[in-house]
Amino acid sequence: MPTLIYESKNFLNGIRIENDGDSLVFTRKNISGETKSSVKLSQVRKISVEKSMLSYSLIIDREEGSPISLGGFECKAVEEISRNLGSLVEIKAEGGKKRGTPDEVRKGAAAILESLSGDFDPRHIITYIITQAVRLDSSDIHITPKKEAALIQFRIDGLLQEIARLDNENYSRLTAAVKNRAKLPSYKKSVPQDGSFHFDDEGLNLDIRCATIPTLHGEKLVLRILSTAKTPLFLDDLGFSPEILSAYKKAISEPQGCIVLTGPAGSGKTTTIFASLIHIYNNFSGTINIATIEDPVEYILDEFQQTQVQPVTGLTFAAGLKSLLRLDPDIILVGEIRDPETAQIAVRTALTGHLIFTTLHARDTLGVFPRLIEMDMKPGLVSSSVTASLYQRLIRKLCEKCKKEAEPPAELIREAATAGLKPETYYTAVGCPECSGSGYSGRTGVFELLIPDDTVRDMIMTGVSRQKINEYCRSKGMKFLRDDAIRRICEGVTDYSEIGRVCPTGNF
Ligand SMILES: [Zn+2]
Repeated sequence: MPTLIYESKNFLNGIRIENDGDSLVFTRKNISGETKSSVKLSQVRKISVEKSMLSYSLIIDREEGSPISLGGFECKAVEEISRNLGSLVEIKAEGGKKRGTPDEVRKGAAAILESLSGDFDPRHIITYIITQAVRLDSSDIHITPKKEAALIQFRIDGLLQEIARLDNENYSRLTAAVKNRAKLPSYKKSVPQDGSFHFDDEGLNLDIRCATIPTLHGEKLVLRILSTAKTPLFLDDLGFSPEILSAYKKAISEPQGCIVLTGPAGSGKTTTIFASLIHIYNNFSGTINIATIEDPVEYILDEFQQTQVQPVTGLTFAAGLKSLLRLDPDIILVGEIRDPETAQIAVRTALTGHLIFTTLHARDTLGVFPRLIEMDMKPGLVSSSVTASLYQRLIRKLCEKCKKEAEPPAELIREAATAGLKPETYYTAVGCPECSGSGYSGRTGVFELLIPDDTVRDMIMTGVSRQKINEYCRSKGMKFLRDDAIRRICEGVTDYSEIGRVCPTGNF
């Protein structure tokens, strides 16, 4: 009887690893059935499973003798082993898991970047900076010229952290090299520019978007890191309360309608949408057709038909959506509704037997309806097509290593009581080397879900005030964003000052 070592059931390509006494047997499940392959135990040096999902590590001796270490960011090795095993093993960098602490990186970066010799190779420095940013799971790299020296900062868990300073001459050489790599003319310094390049080094496989903006002391550069091997999350891992999660899962299981997500840029909407699409895909065992039109494509999944918006060639959201419909999709993701034309097509499509996911800029769940109505849409059409509106934000989680039990603030106890909650144990942020003194590590979502019932639809259609609709929703037990954030405090996930920063009172 083989021993089960690892199993991921839910993912698109569910994988099972068993030890049959002689070999490690890898079984990959997908829509076309199961494929098996194996590695002799004598070749395996180590196998370990970290947390859930796809982050296990394997060390397998290659035939030539040198070991391949799998896991973390060593994606090159992953590709290699994937080839050897018939693309059976999928190991991706685990989101949120830091491979270094900001302090470690800062020390190393200061030693290297602040004492560069005059003839340094800027290409090596670009590689170094990007690799360090990835080690810290950063989303962006900012290079900002200042009067004295340029500042290199990484955006980690949504906040900018200083990593090193560069003297002005080295800054000029570095930015020229980055712009060159992003195919931007280096002589143009007084207009904002956008470019991108592919980074395939140090075992990483990334798309880097590069934006420049002129400032008082020179050009500022922002590099956005888009991993081509990003691991999508599961709905259950995003931080939903059980009640909201079950109502949301029900809404996305309907065969038609429009699911609108709202929240500022960087609030995790795309992650939630992809977790939703994977959830549906798995529920239907891959027998449905999912098509997307996005800008940019952030998660790449072979199982979906994904299209990138290209306004230069006329491929806008509206044009892309029209052509997607010819592919006979069951579910469509329209990355964002920005204009009346896209809104019109999306809403009509939702009423004709398709399930549409999209995002929209609005202040909260209820704000989605007037935003759509402002885009020349009939209130009746909007209220009948939007089947769920989800508003989300990301809050920083307290660092597990240093969070400290404390007396809950009186306002919190009062607020929690109105939401029917009670903080059992209250924790606050302290700060330790692990979290670079911030007291927080990683982020999680807080949510507000509105599933309009007939009364809400009527109220939207007849233009009833938002306050009245809010009151009605609350009377029906709907939880607002702030309530959900209070729940996370009561669970000891975050503290009162963090939710004050992300969702202050009076925000809804
Ligand atoms: Zn800490």
